[in-house]
Amino acid sequence: MHEKSLVQSLLKQVEAIMREHHAVSVQAVTVEIGPLSGVESLLVEDAFSELLLNSQIGRPSLNIQAVDLTIRCRDCEQASSSPGLTLKCQLCGSNKVQITHGDEFRLMDVSLQIPAESENSVT
Ligand SMILES: [Zn+2]
Repeated sequence: MHEKSLVQSLLKQVEAIMREHHAVSVQAVTVEIGPLSGVESLLVEDAFSELLLNSQIGRPSLNIQAVDLTIRCRDCEQASSSPGLTLKCQLCGSNKVQITHGDEFRLMDVSLQIPAESENSVT
């Protein structure tokens, strides 16, 4: 499953951050998912809770942030957000556009439990 391998590499990143900061556990993990990433939030949640069982990071909560699709027009060079996932400039109607946001799946934030400190957030 696509989502499972994505979550697997996500958890590797989280584990690396955890080691780097000598954290004892992770309290929350925030990821950003764009509408064109081809990633299903529900499948990510499933893979996350399944893969957590074999990881060292504790039982963090998972926050999923949806990203708006943002495009940049090659004709009028304006950026606009694109409701309804249409790949068309909102300003001049051109369809020569470039996706600037909306196809990402990435780690945004990790809340760590660090000894001698109550909480520390790393972006
Ligand atoms: Zn335009």
